[in-house]
Amino acid sequence: MKIPWIFHQEYDIPLPKNHRFSSSKFGDLYTLLIDSELAKDADVFIPTPAKDSKLVRVHTREYINKIKHGNLSVEEEKVLGLPWSKTLSRRSYLAVNGTYLTSELALSNGIACHLAGGTHHAHSSYGSGFCVFNDLAYAAKNIISEGKCKKILIIDCDVHQGDGTANICKNDNNIFTCSIHASNNFPTVKVKSDFDIALDDNISESNYLKKVQSALNICSKEIKPDLVLYDAGVDIHKNDKLGRLNISSKYILKRDLEVLKFFRKKDVPIATVIGGGYSNDNLELAERHSLIFYAANQVFNHKKMNT
Ligand SMILES: [Zn+2]
Repeated sequence: MKIPWIFHQEYDIPLPKNHRFSSSKFGDLYTLLIDSELAKDADVFIPTPAKDSKLVRVHTREYINKIKHGNLSVEEEKVLGLPWSKTLSRRSYLAVNGTYLTSELALSNGIACHLAGGTHHAHSSYGSGFCVFNDLAYAAKNIISEGKCKKILIIDCDVHQGDGTANICKNDNNIFTCSIHASNNFPTVKVKSDFDIALDDNISESNYLKKVQSALNICSKEIKPDLVLYDAGVDIHKNDKLGRLNISSKYILKRDLEVLKFFRKKDVPIATVIGGGYSNDNLELAERHSLIFYAANQVFNHKKMNT
């Protein structure tokens, strides 16, 4: 089967040199994937910008306008961690709708993979930790509001806790949020998800996988989802600049395979987003983010990654 890949050429953002966020990571990932053996099994889809009428299901009108017109205060920009630009505003509108499109395509195909997304620190009235709009909450709330499915499970395996998603979705009984993260990492103040697993910095790779497996079992007892949004963050990697864990690429791939196989067996569609990942080496970072695409091809097309 062809696996839908969702990407827009305008995802990358201009940033000062040596900024902790890699400004070209989305384009780098696309270039790597489109030249890889995976491309023949994929179809690329391009999102349109989100509409304000859909963003208001997640964000305050005031905050949306600040992003649209560039009216963030110095303090707000500092919390966001990215300088406002027209490009940043446009890519934020595109990327949230990218995750929405990924969710729609997952519902019709069983799987769809976004080459962006996982902006889980964005709260309803402010951006934080490089996250402008919350794509996971945006996709989940809009898909449900439009009657495209009833119950959504968000599994967030980024090394940082999904505080924004937890906060925005906390009163929504149809969205179950799960975050598996390093307890000592950003954000300092965590927001309670429906289910959280806080990990010690020195957790072993095999114990990490066990924690993920137990989270899958517990969550699927709590909610019978019609759709899973999976944040396959790679900042758990041992060489990640901002992560605190000690997990290799081999185990990130194992984790991704575990999550995809678990829901594939239950016939639950899965939309994946790349989540966090930080490195000065753009190629290494793109390779880490490509693991979820290899995992999808293995689970849905039975093609193993050539290592
Ligand atoms: Zn992260």
